[in-house]
Amino acid sequence: MSEVINSSRAKEIIQDNLDYTLFSWSIQKGIDPIAVKYGKGLYLYDHDDKKYIDFSSGLMNVNIGHGDQRITDAVVKQMQQVSYITPSCVTEVRGALGKKLAEICPGDLNKAFFTLCGASSIENAIKVARLHTGRHKILTRYQSYHGSSYGAMSAGGDPRKLIVDSQQAPNFVHFDIPDGYRWEYGEENLLKESVNQLKRVIAFEGSGSIAAILLEGESGSSGCLKYPKGYLKEIRNICDEYGILLIADEVMSGFGRTGQWFGFQNHDIIPDMIVMAKGITCGYLPFGCLMLSDKISAKYDEAVLPLGLTYSAHPVSCAAALATLHIYEDDNLIENAAKMGRYLDQQIEILKSHHPSIGDWRNTGLLGCLELVKDRSTKEPMAPFNAKPEQMEVMNKVAARIKELGMYTFVRWNYIFIAPPLIVSKKEIDYGIAIISEALKIADESLK
Ligand code: PLP
Repeated sequence: MSEVINSSRAKEIIQDNLDYTLFSWSIQKGIDPIAVKYGKGLYLYDHDDKKYIDFSSGLMNVNIGHGDQRITDAVVKQMQQVSYITPSCVTEVRGALGKKLAEICPGDLNKAFFTLCGASSIENAIKVARLHTGRHKILTRYQSYHGSSYGAMSAGGDPRKLIVDSQQAPNFVHFDIPDGYRWEYGEENLLKESVNQLKRVIAFEGSGSIAAILLEGESGSSGCLKYPKGYLKEIRNICDEYGILLIADEVMSGFGRTGQWFGFQNHDIIPDMIVMAKGITCGYLPFGCLMLSDKISAKYDEAVLPLGLTYSAHPVSCAAALATLHIYEDDNLIENAAKMGRYLDQQIEILKSHHPSIGDWRNTGLLGCLELVKDRSTKEPMAPFNAKPEQMEVMNKVAARIKELGMYTFVRWNYIFIAPPLIVSKKEIDYGIAIISEALKIADESLK
């Protein structure tokens, strides 16, 4: 395939963006963004009418696909009524959305505090956990991501925070969960050792000082790392034993992404709080939510709830969210995610047999990740954890080839994420896998 030559208009658009705006998590020089003109369904179209299949649903948030007119209609209708009111006033849509979320969430998770994004939901979850328990420490996993604001970044175990390490918020303690793919001591010992590691951390830190354990419902950008079977149930029991709250971060794994409303439902547990964003509005507008159990929210019947945001329960975002939730149900998207996830797993098995550079495939529903290795027997990664730019040579070439062939997807270190919108069909999965297969030839070639 020949290199795409951007038209002069596309070049101008890209240049303005490069000259006057900053790009997240990137060396600013040498960025080569897609200038998107519009999106429809699974596809993004640039200013030169080149089509890209979006195989990571943006940042794993555009679950219903791009350009759904139903959201636009709901947003316009709300704006015609009122675009903004203070969070102390109410709208019809705010109450309806709260009611709908309470219906979707299991157990007594019935009260919603509406925020702006994932990180602002995490910040509020941390505050509530400390207020509820009177304790200060929050335990979270290395190899996790919870957002980039101060508390959320400190809570996360993602190495992007290391550059500002000395400035982090206090009272976050991290623990490790062994990686099943590289575990060498027998499947039967994986759960036991994982749980024992955490129990030791709790003992060393003092259970009486721990407010909450915060975990992704299913691991996302850290590589879709799987919890050992039964792990989250054990965590639930530990939390109950020590009076620690369990917070499920469902920012990426929520809203059908894993073939259930929430990732934790694959593990048969109910947390005390759910952190939501991304799929709640599918990125049509920024929005987030912290869902509290009745056990936690009851206190605020009599006490001041010390949380607040100018844009909490923003009417237009609430309208986008409510319309989005209806689309999941009306279009059976959660069922489709589970079904297409099974099909994807089958197709990846075939792909693996053609590409020796694929070491592992980890997926739940449509939240999946290919891990590339230099050698299947040693499992040496194609690029290491927190790879330096010079260690990314092969992966950068693979990513560039994917883009050249007309796909947008999230590539990080030695991971290629596969998380298409939940509207995906078998035909589109085949189409996307064919592109990835072609790009993987570069990785296979590097093994020789
Ligand atoms: N939590 C998880 C699991 C995420 O994946 C993300 C973002 O990718 C966040 C929190 C932060 O969300 P936001 O970028 O909306 O602040």
